[in-house]
Formats: sequence, C-alpha cells, structure tokens
Amino acid sequence: MIVTRFAPSPTGYLHLGHAYAALYAAKAGARFLLRIEDIDRARCRPEFEAAIYEDLAWLGLDWEQPVLRQSERTSAYRAAIQRLTERGLVYPCFCTRKDIADEIARAGAAPHGAEGPLYPGLCRDLPEEIRRERIASGIPHALRLNVAKAVVIAGPLSFQEHGEEIAVDPVSLGDIVVARKEMPAAYHLAVVVDDAYQGVTLVTRGEDLLSATHVQRLLQALLGLPAPQYAHHRLILDEHGKKFSKRDSSVTLRDLHASGATPRDIFVRLGLDDFRRTR
Ligand code: GLU
Repeated sequence: MIVTRFAPSPTGYLHLGHAYAALYAAKAGARFLLRIEDIDRARCRPEFEAAIYEDLAWLGLDWEQPVLRQSERTSAYRAAIQRLTERGLVYPCFCTRKDIADEIARAGAAPHGAEGPLYPGLCRDLPEEIRRERIASGIPHALRLNVAKAVVIAGPLSFQEHGEEIAVDPVSLGDIVVARKEMPAAYHLAVVVDDAYQGVTLVTRGEDLLSATHVQRLLQALLGLPAPQYAHHRLILDEHGKKFSKRDSSVTLRDLHASGATPRDIFVRLGLDDFRRTR
C-alpha cells in the first residue's frame, strides 16, 4: 500500500505550487498523510497552520489523523542526533554566516555543490580541546554531518526516483547541518526521521528537492531507517518562470478563494483533471 505525505511549513499561506504538491501526493497515495514542518518556531505562525487545514479541505482533500507536527518531535530528533554523535559522524560548527562567506571569498575557488558553495570545513578538524572550550564558554554551535566520513561508513547507496535507480552523490551538499544553533534539528534530519516514523513509502515533492534526496538517503542509511521511493514532480512557476514566493499573495489559495475561484478553477490552472473525479 502506497503511503504519501504532504509536508508544508506554516510560514505563509499555501499557494498554487503547494496545491499542486498536495494534490499530487494525495493522488499518488492509497494513504495520504499530512505533516506540519514547524521546527523553525521563529518563522511559523498558528494562523498559517490553521489556514493549511482550511485551504486543503477547500480543495477537497482529506488526510489521516493525527497530523504530525515537527515541533512535537524534538526527542526523536535528539535520539537520531545522538546516534550519529556516538558514531563520530557529527561535529560542532561555531561558524556564523559571515565566517563562512569570508572563508569562501578568501579561498577563491570554493567547491560548489547542487545548492551553491559548500561549507568550507572551517570547524571540521578543530582540536577537541578547542571544541570543549568554546562549548563551555557558551558560543552557540550547530552540528554538521561529516559527509566524507559518513560516505565511507555507509558505502555506495542509491534511491528509486520514479522507479529508476539513481546513485547517491551525497557530497553534492557538503557537510550539511543536522542541528541548528537555535533548533533541535535541521530540515534533512527531521524529514528522514519523520518519513520513517510515519511509514511513508513514497515521498512526492517538487523537483527542487531532488538534490536533497542524496543526503537524505545517506542519513537513512546511517540511522538504519527504511528508504522510501521518490517521485519528484515539476514545479508550478509564475509567468516569469520563477517559483511562487510565500510573499506573493496574488497566488495564495486564500486570495484565489476569496476572489471567487472554485477548486475546479485551481485544478484547471494547474493542468490537472478534476481531482475528485480522477481519484
Ligand atoms: N517542508 C518542505 C517544504 O515546504 C517539504 C519537505 C519535503 O517534502 O521533504 O518545502
């Protein structure tokens, strides 16, 4: 039985791109789950979460209860990070954004990954006593995955994308952050822990996240989690060929609804058949 999920962050109102992702996931799954990705407490707002439920229901979607909220999953993320720590796979990183930008500028030719310059590794090999001193003196730190080390331990990996086997190139994202300075977990870690917890068998999402799948597959292997199948889908773009922004209210489902659009109008605009008839 195929289990899918839609995993929005309540940091703004849902727009047409979200509608496509949600409808795609709901259609692909025999069971359809919802997950609220609200670990970034500073950016999430309760009214956006409430709007997610309303807007999805307006589109005709229903999802299983209970809804999983990442803000309630801190202990599961801690346990996963602990597991990586015990195996010596993460290290504290004290860098500010400026430290990283300065180092990249200084080094001239920084290695680039799928999403721009990679973390230049300033904190990767800090002596243990310096780490201890800095932590003791209260300097905030994130935790990063030592990808080179992790790859050796995990060995060659692959994942299934639309049924096709893709070899993992985890190095393309560099030493990703697994726990942020002000948060218990970062995106990649939370997603793999929760997809496994919820029993998701098919991860559907926009193709902008295909590159993230490589490191997520690596994390699954390191944490002994099952690997779901993947189906990344096309992005819904605005008339300039750009992704919709959460700040652009003209395409929020809320505003389209308020200005008289029907769910059917949304399906047509997204190039989908009537969701309720085709499901
Ligand atoms: N919360 C992510 C987003 O809104 C989706 C994460 C995922 O589907 O893996 O872009």
